[in-house]
Amino acid sequence: MTPTVHNQTRHWQALDAAHHIHPFSDTAALNREGVRIITHAKGIYVYDSEGARLLDGMAGLWCVQLGYGNEELAEAGAKALRELPYYNHFFKTSNPWTIELATKLAQVLPEGLERVLFANSGSEANDTALKLIRYYWNLKGKPKKKIHISREMAYHGVTMAAASLSGLTPMHPQWDLPLAGFEKVPTCYWYAAKSAGYGDVSPEDFGELIAAKLEEKILALGPDNVASFSAEPIHGAGGLIFPPSTYWPAIQKVCAKYDVLLHVDEVITGFGRTGNWFGSHTYGISPDVMTMAKGLSSGYQPISAIALGPRMGDAIANANEELVHGYTYSGHPVACAVALKNLEIMERDAIPARVGTDTGPYLQASLRAAFQDHPLVGEVRGVGLLAAIELVDDKAERRFFPEVGEVGTICRNHCFREGLVMRAIRDTMVCSPPLTITRAEIDEMVALAKRCFDLTAADLGRT
Ligand SMILES: *Cc1c(COP(=O)(O)O)cnc(C)c1O
Repeated sequence: MTPTVHNQTRHWQALDAAHHIHPFSDTAALNREGVRIITHAKGIYVYDSEGARLLDGMAGLWCVQLGYGNEELAEAGAKALRELPYYNHFFKTSNPWTIELATKLAQVLPEGLERVLFANSGSEANDTALKLIRYYWNLKGKPKKKIHISREMAYHGVTMAAASLSGLTPMHPQWDLPLAGFEKVPTCYWYAAKSAGYGDVSPEDFGELIAAKLEEKILALGPDNVASFSAEPIHGAGGLIFPPSTYWPAIQKVCAKYDVLLHVDEVITGFGRTGNWFGSHTYGISPDVMTMAKGLSSGYQPISAIALGPRMGDAIANANEELVHGYTYSGHPVACAVALKNLEIMERDAIPARVGTDTGPYLQASLRAAFQDHPLVGEVRGVGLLAAIELVDDKAERRFFPEVGEVGTICRNHCFREGLVMRAIRDTMVCSPPLTITRAEIDEMVALAKRCFDLTAADLGRT
């Protein structure tokens, strides 16, 4: 947007403060500080109204897989806007973009996931998945199977049900959540195991031990009462927590044993992020229902999807009654056109493979080389183009800082000042760049991060 008044930034800041409430922000504090106005973006960089350039190490909110300024995506959206800016699927109608997107998804999804529904956000997709799980058990004549189990530290979104499913406890008190019927189990956060009192257990043993907690929970609730288990293949907003190799095989065994549906939330891990099309490919997971959003359209349009495996898909498609669910914008033609083009480009340019065999391993090796021996860094972990760097008080003891989040915030602020977007989750620095990032750009990102970590160490007197 072109400035229209003297000191356009201050003008926008004042209007934003007066009229716009921000998500996940302290409104009063933000308004005192003044927001940063992002005006345009290209490739892996975003630019603000004061002319500052930021290297976006988060791909927006983990979603801009193809980077900013992709002309093919813009063209696909513009073409659909001209041809069919809107039509719905309620009146025995469909449109070419929705049909082709559903078909393309069925091709790239893990085997067995062949039917999809569309929604507009990750939260809606998860909400829908839970409704479909409830419906499935009603269709199967098991109406008592209604409890949804999920994990501590999980992030599944913000609607009433998705927030209830989420295990990040700060998400609950303002809204009197979770709702009844939502239960939590501990998660596979090996790095925190020692400080949590599990002793010096190996990652593999810890994966088994934590999966056994799900079995205990199911038995305590009664398998006849448990509808589903929901999890991200890798915790995203919970701090990039990667599963030990033993975890997912053990979890799947437990779900199968007690006839508990497995809902896999691939909102972050989908679409090439882990070096395969889906995190389920990377970890060998066979979901009954999978939810996806973010990278589905590279964030260029709000769209999400719910994919059903054979059990749920067959039951719901053959229920012989109306499915009393759907959004005005389910399968919106413009969003579908952009998502379809996004998947076509990913396929044509072999983006998942490039992440898996080239840029992903390169990022992981670069981060380890830069940070393994850094005075503040306890662990560097990651898969594909997802990486976390754990800032700790005591490396040998794997002990966190006493004031959780303080050091992460110092580091995050240095990053922004130095022109790098990296997010701090507690004291874990996370990065998730666009999947189009080059090796040279990875070098630039890691060098910037190194400078910010050194500045943080200097602030703490720990160089
Ligand atoms: C972002 C996210 C969601 C919520 O998606 P929205 O589009 O913000 O509603 C759900 N699950 C996971 C794993 C996410 O990262």
